[in-house]
Amino acid sequence: MGRQKYQKLFVLPDQTARLAIPELAVIKDNAPIASYEVVHQRYFSGDYPICPKCGGTNTRPLKVVDRQLKDIVGRQEKASDVIDLIFHQRYYRCLTCGNRVFPEKVSFAEPGVHFTNRLSDILADGTLLQSYEKVCKEYGVPASKASVGSIMRRRLQFRMSQLPSLKTPRAIAIFVVKFYREEYPVILSLDDHTVRFIDILPGSSAAAYSAFFSGLDRYQVKQILIDPDEQLLSSAHTAFPNSIIAVSKECIQRFTRKAFKEVFQAEAKHCTVPRLYSSLINPEKYLREEDRERIERVMRKRPRLHAAYIAYQDLLNSLEGKWNVEKLLEWAGSMPDYLEEYAEDKPVDPIQEFDIISDILTLFRNEVNQYLSLQEDPAPSLAASTAAIEEALANMPYCIFDVLQARMLLNTPNELFEIGDKTYRLGIPIDQLVSKIYDVNEMIRQKRENDRDGYDTENESSGH
Ligand SMILES: [Zn+2]
Repeated sequence: MGRQKYQKLFVLPDQTARLAIPELAVIKDNAPIASYEVVHQRYFSGDYPICPKCGGTNTRPLKVVDRQLKDIVGRQEKASDVIDLIFHQRYYRCLTCGNRVFPEKVSFAEPGVHFTNRLSDILADGTLLQSYEKVCKEYGVPASKASVGSIMRRRLQFRMSQLPSLKTPRAIAIFVVKFYREEYPVILSLDDHTVRFIDILPGSSAAAYSAFFSGLDRYQVKQILIDPDEQLLSSAHTAFPNSIIAVSKECIQRFTRKAFKEVFQAEAKHCTVPRLYSSLINPEKYLREEDRERIERVMRKRPRLHAAYIAYQDLLNSLEGKWNVEKLLEWAGSMPDYLEEYAEDKPVDPIQEFDIISDILTLFRNEVNQYLSLQEDPAPSLAASTAAIEEALANMPYCIFDVLQARMLLNTPNELFEIGDKTYRLGIPIDQLVSKIYDVNEMIRQKRENDRDGYDTENESSGH
């Protein structure tokens, strides 16, 4: 084993030049099939790699294992530029450290991925604007679910490394969005009264938070608005011991809205009034007269929804004026009163959906009080921003986290800031972020409608 099966005179210079991967030499062209057989350039030298484990130089070729990959050559624009690569990869044995066996190290493809890096990058870039399956189909390569994560991570890491470093904001807000069944924390910068998107994290664990926080300048962050989450609170305290950590009015509004939505979904089934929910969640004073009448008609038959609506509107009103924790707790405790006037007709189930607000106010009383003690609201437009992001993501067809993060981070340019001769990124303004997400959602949907050939889309195959 390990003797040379291929000779240097087998190398095909034209095909090797066309392939243009400096590590590789083409030793066989399987034309008319678009398929090259390749070996590492080292194959023809007597020069063996050092052991990756012990660094020893006493290594010997042991065997050759064929690795099948898809690659793209030539103009790299269309399916016909895609070829098969059969890589006769050499494995070596290290005689120094317990006969360890290791493969020839390569830089043109990641371990375990069936595409070369340059093809991966093209697929990953395409995925920013359409579904992964669709991009793979355009290039005529199999859409392997197992590899999309590593393909996107590689590209994202590279593109992220091209971004200027983040200028640590003085104030940040962290809120958790639900995307299909997963929850992802979104990080916003609140500097200069402008809300900007900074990043979205792969999970809401203490580890995920700490990893992100460690990239910030801990002395620069003065205020952190958080969602009511113990992991987040303790991670923020550890990372920024001198910062103000607060639960904001926006957060209480958002959780109240979520609670009201639960009542709405339970009570307004089979209700055909268009855009009813979006009419209900805004402050009542903004309702148009015709909406007001339609809403009254719906409410007449749904006492529990009606009571919850009045309670929800009362809370919005309270938050507009002067409020404190006690006042909101009183509101939460008065839920049975809202139902009283309906009790005479027939029993109505209690409204327990708003109990979450009492929990937040009790468990995070300190953080709510921190917010109330701030001299000024760090970002009056925060509520509009979180609502806009939630709605935009609610319309996005399913994709894995890496694709979601890449679509949010890489499709829209960051605002930049210069200090001396160094450029920093400030984040992406929310209106630009959201409008780009809608563009992407629309593009994915249009492509799907134009293509009714039964091909699996991300959304359908994920079972949502
Ligand atoms: Zn070794």
